[in-house]
Amino acid sequence: MRRPESVVVVGAGLAGLRASTALRARGFDGRITLVGEEPHGPYDRPSLSKAVLTGQRTAAETDLPIAPDLDASWRLGLRAVRLDRAGRSLSLNDGTTLAYDGLVIATGAAAAPWPGPGVPPPGVHTLRGRRDAVGLRGALSGGGGLLVVGAGFLGAEVASAARSLGLPVTLVGTGRWPMERAVGPVVASVLAGVQAGAGVDLRPRTTVAGFLGDRTLEGAVLSDGTRIRVGTALLALGARPNTGWLRGSGLRLSDGPSGGVHCDRRGRALEEDGGPADGIVVLGDVAAVPHPLPDRGSPSHLSIGHWSEAVDRADTVAAALLGQESPVEETVPSFWSDQFGLRIRSVGLPRFADRTEVHDHDPVRSRLEVTYHRGGRMVGALTVNRTSRLAAHRERVRREWNRGRAPV
Ligand SMILES: Cc1cc2nc3c(=O)[nH]c(=O)nc-3n(C[C@H](O)[C@H](O)[C@H](O)COP(=O)(O)OP(=O)(O)OC[C@H]3O[C@@H](n4cnc5c(N)ncnc54)[C@H](O)[C@@H]3O)c2cc1C
Repeated sequence: MRRPESVVVVGAGLAGLRASTALRARGFDGRITLVGEEPHGPYDRPSLSKAVLTGQRTAAETDLPIAPDLDASWRLGLRAVRLDRAGRSLSLNDGTTLAYDGLVIATGAAAAPWPGPGVPPPGVHTLRGRRDAVGLRGALSGGGGLLVVGAGFLGAEVASAARSLGLPVTLVGTGRWPMERAVGPVVASVLAGVQAGAGVDLRPRTTVAGFLGDRTLEGAVLSDGTRIRVGTALLALGARPNTGWLRGSGLRLSDGPSGGVHCDRRGRALEEDGGPADGIVVLGDVAAVPHPLPDRGSPSHLSIGHWSEAVDRADTVAAALLGQESPVEETVPSFWSDQFGLRIRSVGLPRFADRTEVHDHDPVRSRLEVTYHRGGRMVGALTVNRTSRLAAHRERVRREWNRGRAPV
């Protein structure tokens, strides 16, 4: 890629901010314009399902710090609706266009909607942005019970927040235990014990067949025929990459929970034919990065959807956009979750393991340390209340993933 004179960053979230900061750190002194659909600048989304719901922080207290010398133009409250690559410009939803020389795609993801049947009544929430968190916090403050639909990390964190507020919580999920897909059966079964012990009504291998109520939520019917009376529900059904504005742009996109804008290991967006697109990079939840553990039958690209991705890949992506060398190797994703008094930390991609090794399990002190393996390879590690053990595991995963791999 040749060095651009001006850069437009679409998406003013964590990835947009980190990409802009990395461009400046690499000496880029041209114009940077950030376009963001939300009316406010970047903020800390993970707090929304934790401290904001419990009332320990207000939504306004989640702003991310911005370096005073970033020197960027902010176009907030505006959505990119189309990309015209031949004309090197974007159309915005106010009817204006914006020319770019270099482009950073950082539009993140949106909460997966209710798949049906019917349209859910008011009282059924999703949680992705600040406005959602304020709405859900208000509903929880009104008391009553909470039904959480979807037992991944987000669903479990919201269940934890609601229990800490003293609300009755029902957690419905398709697996045997909450978070099983992400952390595997060994860890998920231990965590399910903690959740049940904290008073969460776990409904495994269950879905919601439909909601009750018209103008306001009255309850839900579960797939086993049970009726739950509840005034607030959260849909925690995963995230979908925000790629709609890129349809027809000639970039390679894939839909679904693991989809996004395909890019190479340097973060360069790919053309439909697989070659790198000129002057366009991708970062954060909207990026589908090359699968770090390719296997027969596995998709070529994968959206990882962790905070660490936007942070750890920002410099590589900035270097690629500026046409500079970057000696970076494969990054190891990391993830944290705070729920039910547990500090859960993971590195790597536990969901691709076929074997879990337990190194320490102390139920009295709520401590757990496991590593994940696939074939002869370590693919991840997870600790509960044993964070100090993680750095060594991360280093081993990093070495194993990069063994025999050429630098990017
Ligand atoms: C409730 C919640 C809790 C989480 N907790 C954790 C956690 O504990 N640990 C962890 O590792 N990760 C967690 N995550 C994930 C983490 O927040 C994301 O990985 C991170 O926010 C990704 O940053 P991003 O900038 O790529 O996307 P986003 O933060 O989604 O930002 C993208 C921005 O682009 C804007 N945008 C979208 N489309 C357009 C468009 N067409 N034009 C202009 N702007 C557009 C969006 O409005 C948004 O502001 C959590 C996420 C949520 C929602």
